[in-house]
Amino acid sequence: MNLIKKDKEYVANTYNRQDVAFKYGKGSTLYDYNDNPYIDFTSGIGVNIFGFNDEGYKKAINDQLNCLQHTSNLYYTEPCATLAEQLCKRTNMKKVFFGNSGAEANEGALKAARKYSFDKYGADRYEVISLVDSFHGRTMATLTLTGQDKFHKYFNPFLDGVKYSLKTMEDIKNTVSEKTCAIIIEAIQGEAGVMPLDFDFVKELEYYCNEKDILLICDEVQAGNGRCGVLYSYMAYNINPDIVTTAKGLAGGLPIGAVLLGNKVENTFKYGDHGSTFGGNPISCSAANYVLSKINDELLSHVLECEKYIRSELEGFEISGMGLMLGISVPNNQEVLVKCKEQGLLVLTAGNKIRLLPPLNISFEELQKGISILKGVISE
Ligand SMILES: *Cc1c(COP(=O)(O)O)cnc(C)c1O
Repeated sequence: MNLIKKDKEYVANTYNRQDVAFKYGKGSTLYDYNDNPYIDFTSGIGVNIFGFNDEGYKKAINDQLNCLQHTSNLYYTEPCATLAEQLCKRTNMKKVFFGNSGAEANEGALKAARKYSFDKYGADRYEVISLVDSFHGRTMATLTLTGQDKFHKYFNPFLDGVKYSLKTMEDIKNTVSEKTCAIIIEAIQGEAGVMPLDFDFVKELEYYCNEKDILLICDEVQAGNGRCGVLYSYMAYNINPDIVTTAKGLAGGLPIGAVLLGNKVENTFKYGDHGSTFGGNPISCSAANYVLSKINDELLSHVLECEKYIRSELEGFEISGMGLMLGISVPNNQEVLVKCKEQGLLVLTAGNKIRLLPPLNISFEELQKGISILKGVISE
């Protein structure tokens, strides 16, 4: 196919794309150029949380497009202010900085944490601890934060002042020093294999961080925005982080990143300390306002019902995760992925698992169809 040839010739070869190009989508189903349907259990890696061609979503974006698409951050725009208000009110965080991606949100969190510590303790308290098996992004700083050795090749030198800890309090305490200013966690680690952190570990970590005035940063880029059956996955752990980052699903398919700043850090950033040309873009923010307004109790209980259905259909398999962020242990995940695609189902991998991140509003009919394909493939 011409399109695939052209892409291979001109687009940088950083992605191992599947051998298929999509033309359009409706609900949780994608169609290729021969109109073959594929049930989508990937939602563009946790992004299209209302699937494709959702009428309300399109209207929110179109209405804003008919007003203005961008002004720069030198002026006020309504969607940005409203989104920040919605995010704060629903999380008890105090202020929001907007960027355009998950990595950029984590960069912002890192800067906020270091500045908080600089203001209060001086220049030497700059270390950040991240957990093994974490994933925080692809920029130089967020690659450094990513606690997986395979990401720490080729691009030396990485950022100074980042340490890694195992997921135990004992190792955290051994890794923390008087230079530590923050600890960053994903309550549910996505990329390395959908691994929820232990509940008691997270509670103890929160207590320990509070005691030492070490900022606790929750990376909710993947697990947030309703994905796990709660608005943000840390809420299932009943903790109050100092900083929350999110992105992926927040604007349902448009680029956005957000750094939610709690009590301690709400006034850490002053004029000129941080910025982004596109951050707070009115189109993305309008999309996100629509998405957040639809992440309500009804949707969250749909997510949990879908999880229940998947777990009961796949009884006997080892399943990790929460809500519609699930990992399934299989002997050869790459083979499963390809076989599913051949039968009209798109899934993801993470570590050595199959990872499911379907749209949050997936219909039971699409869910049933997809799960029956998956079940067939992994039961072979
Ligand atoms: C995807 C992801 C990121 C990076 O987000 P980008 O938008 O690709 O920069 C960071 N953290 C987590 C937990 C992610 O899943």
